[in-house]
Amino acid sequence: MARTNLSKHLLLLAATTSIVALLVGFAPSEVEETTIKLEVPLQIISIDEEIVKTQVTDTEAPAVIGTQIGLPTPSGLVKHDPSYITQQASVKSGDSLSKILSSHGISNQDIYRVSSADKKPKELTRMRPGQQLEFVKDKNTDELISLKLIKNQLETIAFEKTDGKFVSSKVVREPETVNVYKEATISNSLFLDGLKAGISQSMLIEMANIFGWDIDFALDLRNGDTFSLLFEEKYLDGQSIGFGNILAAQFVNNGRVYQAIRYETNKGAHYYTPDGLSMRKTFLRTPVDFTRISSKFNPNRLHPIFKTTRPHRGVDYAASKGTPVKASGDGKVIFKGKQNGYGNVVILDHGRGYTTLYAHLNGFSRKIKRGGRVKQGQTIAFVGQTGYATGPHLHYEFRINGTHKNPVTVKLPNDEPMAKKDLKDYLPYAQTMASALESYHSPDYMQKLASIKR
Ligand SMILES: [Zn+2]
Repeated sequence: MARTNLSKHLLLLAATTSIVALLVGFAPSEVEETTIKLEVPLQIISIDEEIVKTQVTDTEAPAVIGTQIGLPTPSGLVKHDPSYITQQASVKSGDSLSKILSSHGISNQDIYRVSSADKKPKELTRMRPGQQLEFVKDKNTDELISLKLIKNQLETIAFEKTDGKFVSSKVVREPETVNVYKEATISNSLFLDGLKAGISQSMLIEMANIFGWDIDFALDLRNGDTFSLLFEEKYLDGQSIGFGNILAAQFVNNGRVYQAIRYETNKGAHYYTPDGLSMRKTFLRTPVDFTRISSKFNPNRLHPIFKTTRPHRGVDYAASKGTPVKASGDGKVIFKGKQNGYGNVVILDHGRGYTTLYAHLNGFSRKIKRGGRVKQGQTIAFVGQTGYATGPHLHYEFRINGTHKNPVTVKLPNDEPMAKKDLKDYLPYAQTMASALESYHSPDYMQKLASIKR
């Protein structure tokens, strides 16, 4: 069973941590708080080096681009003037540009001038706690000569005074991307053993998301399961500043080998098996966050109320009343209403002969109507106890061409395969990535794989 409670939480966490990862790398300025943790090197690296490594992206100030590339930066220039001093301030919560600058003796006029040079996205008014201001002033007159807002390790906004006016420019540094290989064997938990092997939590969550369609990370993990990853790590000045994507991954779970390779088509970047099948499935394994399976799929069971042999053609997922029930796949609502013993029922038609049924519902989502379309994961109803039910639970049925299948074990179809024209390029690429991953496997890992393949 994939995608149960824990994996849901993993997903949520993944969303948060990917923001963190993004931030460390290429912070969009809306995402803020976490920037506080960024260690911005206050010491500006030697000017030559900075010029070589930086890339000026501001198209609004072409005049400055020239000076930025060809000449030393303003702070570089002024360092040699004995009457100029460079000062730094760390932006704290509640700070503003004028608060910081005036506390350093800068006149309101200069504060106004530099603020006026702050173009469109208004960087100076959107400063975040933890960002750094570096400014140069005349130590005798307190006149502001230049100002830099160091947003993060990659992005600096500079304001330079020329002819009494400030002109702004943006300096963006490109981190170096390095591919990293890691592997781990599970003896305690995915997280404990993964972290011990030097894999970050966000990377582990990302991996759990990739394989979560095949492996239930809450229930399926076994002692001795092992996995390997090839992923991107971003470096700046020889220091790691965060992670990029997982490029290839392999997970050996309970004697089965799963492999995923990231590939970008015009439909975006997704993970595929080495054969080009999508890692994502057309159906969620379980359409509800349940506490336990209260009744299994069983063609010959004794009915708890009628005490007669009645097949149980679905699975009962115990969950508290009101728990959202999700559409397990994209489809059309073909029934919404009451059905005797089933109480409130929804039936979805997913095409290609697949239908799913959800029973004992407390109520329906207002957004669904008979004949309407639903998306995978969309809330269609809520867990209840309507019809013949001994407690609140979701009775879930999975049918292929009218035949009931066990929802827990049925082989779920993979999501849309890759387009033929993409596949032609993908297959050799996948082969290369699979070999790359394999070339890094430790002898222990190789031995494990060999013992499975036999
Ligand atoms: Zn049932």
